[in-house]
Amino acid sequence: MTPSSPASTDTSISDRFATVRARIDAAARGAGRDPADVTLVAVSKTQLPEAIDAALATGQRMFGENRVQEAQARWTARLAEVPDLSLRLIGPLQTNKAEDAVAVFDVIETLDREKLARALADAIQKTGRDPSVLIQVNTGAEPQKAGVAVADVASLLSAARGTYGLRVEGLMAIPPVDEVPEPHFQTLARIAADHGLPVLSMGMSGDYAAAIAHGATHVRVGSALFGERKPPLAAV
Ligand SMILES: *Cc1c(COP(=O)(O)O)cnc(C)c1O
Repeated sequence: MTPSSPASTDTSISDRFATVRARIDAAARGAGRDPADVTLVAVSKTQLPEAIDAALATGQRMFGENRVQEAQARWTARLAEVPDLSLRLIGPLQTNKAEDAVAVFDVIETLDREKLARALADAIQKTGRDPSVLIQVNTGAEPQKAGVAVADVASLLSAARGTYGLRVEGLMAIPPVDEVPEPHFQTLARIAADHGLPVLSMGMSGDYAAAIAHGATHVRVGSALFGERKPPLAAV
């Protein structure tokens, strides 16, 4: 490991946040959109406490995590200290973790099956919390990837809202790593428009500008803000 002082971490992280925010604004303007309509979700998975603190020091308040337990470890104390923090689950969720997820996250971006909709509804009733939900769509029809098939979005949406009373606000997707992302962004945007869903979570470090050109309202950016991720063991 290369030794680095907290001060240099702070500086480079605040520089990176400024750069990414400037690129987001430029991409929005370039697409004829209001930059205020694009929200940066800082993906803090595996990051060390000093990196989180540096991100908070820049004013960033919305973060994405892909594991429930890791999010609890990283954020529980800070949730008590920073009133306007907002956390989003961007990784797959098992039904037996639904209650923990609902307790810590404000938005669950990875609803992809009816069984999970039921578990979330139960957890919401039990905890009194009321996170909103995005449906994750497997736009690349990748067998190993989470997300509902494009053809099944309508029925899952109707069950999630009608049967389970969930607040479904939009869609999320992770395009296949080995394909150009634009067709996937287009697909997601079209499905959202078909259903009148306002939130589109798409775009990561390598492609957030393209996602914004296709209507992303939330971009999930990790390594472009924090540098390369640490191995999971160093995380908590
Ligand atoms: C890790 C992750 C990101 C961030 O990826 P970067 O390429 O580091 O920006 C975005 N979305 C999801 C679902 C992720 O798991």
